[in-house]
Amino acid sequence: MESLFGDHEFLGKDSGNNFADIILPVPIPRMFTYKIPTNLKSQIQIGSRVMVQFGKKKVLTGIIGKVHNKPPQAYEAKPILDVLDIEPSVNPLQIRFWVWMAEYYCCHIGEVMHAAVPSGLRLSSESKIQLNPNFDREESKYPLDFREEKILEALEKTEEISYEDCEKILGVKTIHPILKSLVAKEAILVYEKVLEKYTPKVETRIRLTGDIASNKTALEAVFEGVQGKPKQESILLKYLRDIPVFQKPTLNEKGVDKARLLEEGDSESSLKTLIKNGIFESFKVVVNRLPEEEPEKEPAQLSTTQQAAFEEIKTHFENKQTVLLHGVTGSGKTEIYIQLIREVMDSGSQVLLLLPEIALTTQIVSRLKKVFGSQMGVYHSKYSDNERVEVWNGVLSGRFSFVVGVRSSIFLPFDSLGMIIIDEEHEPSYKQFDPAPRFHARDAATMLAYFHQAKTLLGSATPSFESFFNANQGKFGYVEITHRFGDATMPQYHLADLAGDRKKNLLKLDSTRMMREKIQAALDKQEQVLIFQNRRGYSPYIQCEDCGWTGQCVQCDVSLTYHQFAEEMRCHYCGYKEKVPQSCPACGSTQLTTMGMGTERIEESLSLLFPEARMGRMDLDTTRNKYGYQRLLDEFGAGQIDILVGTQMITKGLDFGKVTVVGIWDGDRILNFPDFRSGERAYQQITQVAGRAGRREVQGQVIIQSRNPDNDLYEKVIKGDYFEFFRQEMVDRKKFYYPPYVKLVKITTRHSDFKVSEKAAHALHREMANIGVKKIVLGPEKGIIARIKNQYQFESLIKLDRSGNTQSVFKESLAKILEELHSQPEFRSVRWIVDVDPS
Ligand code: ADP
Ligand code: ZN
Ligand code: ZN
Repeated sequence: MESLFGDHEFLGKDSGNNFADIILPVPIPRMFTYKIPTNLKSQIQIGSRVMVQFGKKKVLTGIIGKVHNKPPQAYEAKPILDVLDIEPSVNPLQIRFWVWMAEYYCCHIGEVMHAAVPSGLRLSSESKIQLNPNFDREESKYPLDFREEKILEALEKTEEISYEDCEKILGVKTIHPILKSLVAKEAILVYEKVLEKYTPKVETRIRLTGDIASNKTALEAVFEGVQGKPKQESILLKYLRDIPVFQKPTLNEKGVDKARLLEEGDSESSLKTLIKNGIFESFKVVVNRLPEEEPEKEPAQLSTTQQAAFEEIKTHFENKQTVLLHGVTGSGKTEIYIQLIREVMDSGSQVLLLLPEIALTTQIVSRLKKVFGSQMGVYHSKYSDNERVEVWNGVLSGRFSFVVGVRSSIFLPFDSLGMIIIDEEHEPSYKQFDPAPRFHARDAATMLAYFHQAKTLLGSATPSFESFFNANQGKFGYVEITHRFGDATMPQYHLADLAGDRKKNLLKLDSTRMMREKIQAALDKQEQVLIFQNRRGYSPYIQCEDCGWTGQCVQCDVSLTYHQFAEEMRCHYCGYKEKVPQSCPACGSTQLTTMGMGTERIEESLSLLFPEARMGRMDLDTTRNKYGYQRLLDEFGAGQIDILVGTQMITKGLDFGKVTVVGIWDGDRILNFPDFRSGERAYQQITQVAGRAGRREVQGQVIIQSRNPDNDLYEKVIKGDYFEFFRQEMVDRKKFYYPPYVKLVKITTRHSDFKVSEKAAHALHREMANIGVKKIVLGPEKGIIARIKNQYQFESLIKLDRSGNTQSVFKESLAKILEELHSQPEFRSVRWIVDVDPS
């Protein structure tokens, strides 16, 4: 067994090697060494999918990670059974990236493979059987019966057969006992053959038959023939409108989509008649799910400020791999990206633009599509498997040299990246929490760029402290834009003081008159309003007025959140849900009320206050389906919504000219949560949502509701002095040992038995104490939520010195410790979750 933590040679296609290390989707932190059979030698390439036997009977699909000549010492290598790819699905750079990711984020390379390769290239399988290559009929000590003989005969003729084939050969339905016996006699292997789950999209098309399309006279005769038959004539005319065969007879070859031709109400039976009469023919083609689109417009001319920033970025790239572009909201960063993307593409390299989440992508994607057309691929989490496979293959084939995508797009099969742009690089959603690999897409992308010798551009109006720190240290280049594009000015802030009031409906308060007046003023001028509600720790719940009962999750130690629309209470940790009870389960009272104010309640109260305003709401509930975001954003953009209430989703990236007022609901909620990053996050979040206001001529108005308007942080946000804010926060980060001064690793110990979980966590701490690197270990402590899905949690936090090889020494030792602990019977079913750079 070849350890991952060795030296890595990536040799590419090499038929001289006798062994291959295979990446398998199993939770074991290694690749597995297999023998390369002589007959497969010419097909072996790094990155190709192969079938191998794993354990006694199982056959798995893996990917060739490495080829070499070192036989494994601890076991005898089995042969590779088959190679599934003619051209590798995965390139050597990707494998190098996977290896790095598994090491850095302390997970298994199989888990990385699982995250990286779309399931359409992986999953679906069919049971097949194959001759066991080690089977020798002459030497076998087991006699075979006639049915078994028949199966073997069939297998000697073709390489593999399916269960169904076996049924046919034997003419019986019960083949399992026969196959089982053949397996026991070591004559065959039974396995799941991986078939690509991907199914191409097939379209029915219509075209003129060959004679008619190429012959003007014939076509005119056809027209004469349909005189007085308006339905047939209409179809013909419409066809000629789409395909002007008179000018270009060759266009006829491609035809038109039948469904589209009939969309405008033409009669299918008339079309059938035309086909019957030999005028049209119908045929089928495989088409892209991702439509071909021509670019519609030239990129915008950069302003002097933008042009200067653009040049500065390029100058930094001459000697820095990474540049941070710190440009206020509305400064026109996207247009600068467009120019850079153009240049890199013109030089023949690939570009990846990362966006934090889909809510953000919709608007920017349509802006970019207009410029790049279908040279640009889009990769996001709401795509189907089939669509993902098409993007994957589009990158492989060179169809897409530029991809816009969410964090998983770092796994696409790029082979010559020239630049990776990470927009809104401060965004927490770049971090994947679950499952492993728990990577941060910004950091991983920077490493990926390094492997490609490519450049990384980080863009943000409110950079992460990590990136700003690196820029300050001179590790990253730094380019700043302090003004908005055009005549737009930065928004004006107002603090609406809620001090002293404890009533629930914030809108009733006199102190929020300001919020009301600003909203009204905007509505009067046909301008638009965004109302932001921070969700964190602020979900609505049901409470009994008489005894104080609240709904609790049965599997987790948390309260259930009330979802008005579905009349349900749900757990946001495990998905458990139940109907809202008619009466209190504890005391029988019927006085159940909703506490806390979610977006639904805010929307409701606002529509009472502004009955004439058209309301919209953007949160998890309203955007669950694939086009939810798009629809809301389209409506908002078209001016069909006056007030849009939303969660985090509305804080990012939106660029709507008519938004002049942004209301921040109960701003204090943003400030108060127990995390070393809370200041940084609050600053970012308020600045970002405020940045949606007044992006054109009219100055934006931002109203923050607060019980605590003197809070330092509001003052800093309003002043917009990011650097000063950073400097102050850094004092504490340094003093209390937090990033970027140290590296954090969080380990969660989980078990269904509280005692076992606690004991395991303490055992881990005892072992970690022996790792000889500079570190501070905190915990183990009961998790902030002590129980999730009936698993008791203990958390440990390790602060590692940033210098030298501290991190790699720690991670290697940790891997060994965890393996050791796992092998102890009492801890066998304990789960340890390692999160590197938690956030
Ligand atoms: P940011 O990403 O920095 O928040 P955007 O790129 O969204 O800023 O730009 C803000 C607005 O200004 C957008 O509507 C954009 O179309 C417009 N804009 C920016 N640069 C230009 C330019 N050079 N020419 C025309 N319009 C521009
Ligand atoms: Zn009660
Ligand atoms: Zn739960």
